[in-house]
Amino acid sequence: MSIDSLIRNTIRSDVLATPGYHVADASGFIKLDAMENPYPLPDHLATDLANRLANVALNRYPVASYASLKARICQQLGVPEGYDVLLGNGSDELISILDMACAHQDRRAVVLSPVPTFVMYARSAKFAGMDFVGVPVRDDLTLDKDAMLAAIAEHKPALVYLSYPNNPTGNLFDEDDMVEIIRALGDTGIAVVDEAYEPFAQKSFMHRLPEFDNLVVMRTVSKLGLAGIRLGYMSAAPQLLEQFDKVRPPYNVNVLTQVAAEFALDHIAVLNEQAAVLREQRALLSAALAAIPGVHVFPSAGNFILARVPDAEAATAYLLSHKVLIKNVGKMHSVLSNCLRITVSTPEENAAFLDAFKASQAA
Ligand SMILES: *Cc1c(COP(=O)(O)O)cnc(C)c1O
Repeated sequence: MSIDSLIRNTIRSDVLATPGYHVADASGFIKLDAMENPYPLPDHLATDLANRLANVALNRYPVASYASLKARICQQLGVPEGYDVLLGNGSDELISILDMACAHQDRRAVVLSPVPTFVMYARSAKFAGMDFVGVPVRDDLTLDKDAMLAAIAEHKPALVYLSYPNNPTGNLFDEDDMVEIIRALGDTGIAVVDEAYEPFAQKSFMHRLPEFDNLVVMRTVSKLGLAGIRLGYMSAAPQLLEQFDKVRPPYNVNVLTQVAAEFALDHIAVLNEQAAVLREQRALLSAALAAIPGVHVFPSAGNFILARVPDAEAATAYLLSHKVLIKNVGKMHSVLSNCLRITVSTPEENAAFLDAFKASQAA
């Protein structure tokens, strides 16, 4: 008996071939790599939340319907009348649920997306046993609508993911182009508009759900300031949501998350105010970066900035050695050569990043 042969005999070959999802150890770093909100809850709210969490019955399973949290999300976050939401352990889990529900066993099932984009679309599709088709965006990072429509006609994808705005490019795809894609999918494919950055984009397809039976709108509270509680939600036509709900593990959202999310909705103005500060900081940081010779800043509707620099690898290494963590996306796709993705943070952290980055350019 050897563990190596055990693994070869049991684990899927494509899993064996997949590298682990690498998350850098960030202790002691200024963390500008993961689009987190840098602001904690104000002290008095943290204390109130602790009191609420202290009263949670940890010995009980969550109430399986999640009715109260779902009703609050629908009321407060712009879900159209007559539409419900499905909750996930982060939107990462929602992506898995969508893929699992559409991964036909008896025929090829395809997930399609513009690339570069959020890496979980391809990862999750592969783990569900689906083929992933990536359609490159244009050099200016806009959606190549004609190529998308041609790929849809060729591959008949069951799911098309559209990150709105797109991670890591930061731009919002043209709304009319997206509508054309949703229409082209018709009754053979589902369009998933991933609005993880909605608090920073302030643009949404949520209110357009009633126009399209094949549209899913997905969001998360992660980028708004609650990445740690792991909560995503998605809405779609009730008949479609009912099918996805069958695939969802029954108690996928834990009671602490449920209570913390309801608490956050009670105080949503605090989080919205933080998002407004970050939108202002995005403009300031973009302008400051763009003023550095050799740096090109792309427009962003997220809480991060994509910038092309003379040497992304050298800049990343320099920043790392000065305890600033950003994401070098230069190797992700040819349209991103020498690009860095920088999370927008507090004025202090943004300044520290800018100082270190300027020093890296002088070095
Ligand atoms: C960060 C991100 C997510 C992940 O959200 P979680 O709810 O934290 O799992 C989903 N989609 C996009 C495009 C993202 O950038």
